[in-house]
Amino acid sequence: MKYQRSSALFREAQKVIPGGVNSPVRAFKSVGGDPVFVAKAKGAYIYDVDGNKLIDYINSWGPMILGHAHEPVVNAVVEKAQKGTSFGMPTEIETEIAALAVSMVPNIDKIRFVNSGTEACMSAVRLARGFTGKDKIIKFAGCYHGHSDSFLIQAGSGAITFGAPNSPGVTAGTAKDTLLATYNDLGHVKAVIEANKNEIACIILEPVAGNMGCIPPAEGFLEGLRELCDKNDILLIFDEVMTGFRLAPGGAQELFGVDADIVTFGKVIGGGLPVGAFAAREEIMNYLAPIGPVYQAGTLSGNPLAMAAGLAMLKELNENRAVFNSINKKTEYLHNGLQAALTAENVKFTINRVGSMISVHFSEESVTDFTSAVHANNENFKTFFHGLLDEGVYIAPSAFETWFICDALSYEDLDATIAACKKVASTLN
Ligand SMILES: *Cc1c(COP(=O)(O)O)cnc(C)c1O
Repeated sequence: MKYQRSSALFREAQKVIPGGVNSPVRAFKSVGGDPVFVAKAKGAYIYDVDGNKLIDYINSWGPMILGHAHEPVVNAVVEKAQKGTSFGMPTEIETEIAALAVSMVPNIDKIRFVNSGTEACMSAVRLARGFTGKDKIIKFAGCYHGHSDSFLIQAGSGAITFGAPNSPGVTAGTAKDTLLATYNDLGHVKAVIEANKNEIACIILEPVAGNMGCIPPAEGFLEGLRELCDKNDILLIFDEVMTGFRLAPGGAQELFGVDADIVTFGKVIGGGLPVGAFAAREEIMNYLAPIGPVYQAGTLSGNPLAMAAGLAMLKELNENRAVFNSINKKTEYLHNGLQAALTAENVKFTINRVGSMISVHFSEESVTDFTSAVHANNENFKTFFHGLLDEGVYIAPSAFETWFICDALSYEDLDATIAACKKVASTLN
């Protein structure tokens, strides 16, 4: 496939946008080459500016769980836009989507909408600090919670890709309040808590990690965290920006049967528009302004177009719950096909999968945390990525990302993908 026009557009973009992109991982820096510029997308396919048609496995990094330009979502946005795009005053649709979200997700009474997953996680931590009156937080190496200062400490995907886990601009003062723990290692978490007795406001984690490739929680890990939090008066925050409305209607809380104190959302909840949200039981949420002391606000929060897209998406998922089973089955089919293809070509690999989150690490050892994820063979990933792109299959341009499966994928698409993987696998070490 040819990508001349994409390359030309990338050169133009670099003159006026740092690195030519508005979010770093789009720039292909960890795989080399020029990024693909999109002209349009429909269902499971991206159509780029050179006229190529690509089977899409990032789906805007998760939101397009039902495929691109899904009609109920598009129609809802178009209809809303004609009535005005922002007011900075309350609208009924905000209550509608809030009520629906609260009804789908276990263990939450109230929800506040913001504009991104970053904002959701940042606000959730402020709320946890305000509610507990404590300053420190525990995060896990390799987990990503957006780009706000407290989280840019071994932050997964983008940050790993760029080899700058501790970003300049994050002050030592901020960094000292973020305590790092090892994913899937309860003993380590316990030790960190012991060393910081009565100072920890919250533990935040991705209940299934998706920003160091896909890494499932070990048996008992989430339950163990719940117990440690209860014992030590710490709030447990599930960052469900990736897992929410994907692993189950009620996200990871429902799938694993473990309750979090605060849950954050993004991606699917906005149906492809810029939306994030955080939610908790009433007692915690009532700590927020205007009824509580913890300040949090947003000029465009609860924006009518964003709420229309999100509501249309959540309604579809709520009314057609067979979707969750359908995408899980498709992902399992892909898993089996990839496993067979890579095995046949004698490639060293590990596939991790939970529901419709899946990733391939080019490493023989099991991948359970940040350290084991980093040990995989990145040269093989680069070859794999570019080989698939040549075959018209678009996966995330970083070895530390999950593939996002959408329900618009047909079994023919999956077969074509598996065939492409087999062909490319023969070129790997
Ligand atoms: C994508 C992501 C975020 C950040 O969301 P943005 O909308 O990009 O700010 C936070 N947490 C997790 C788990 C994510 O996958």
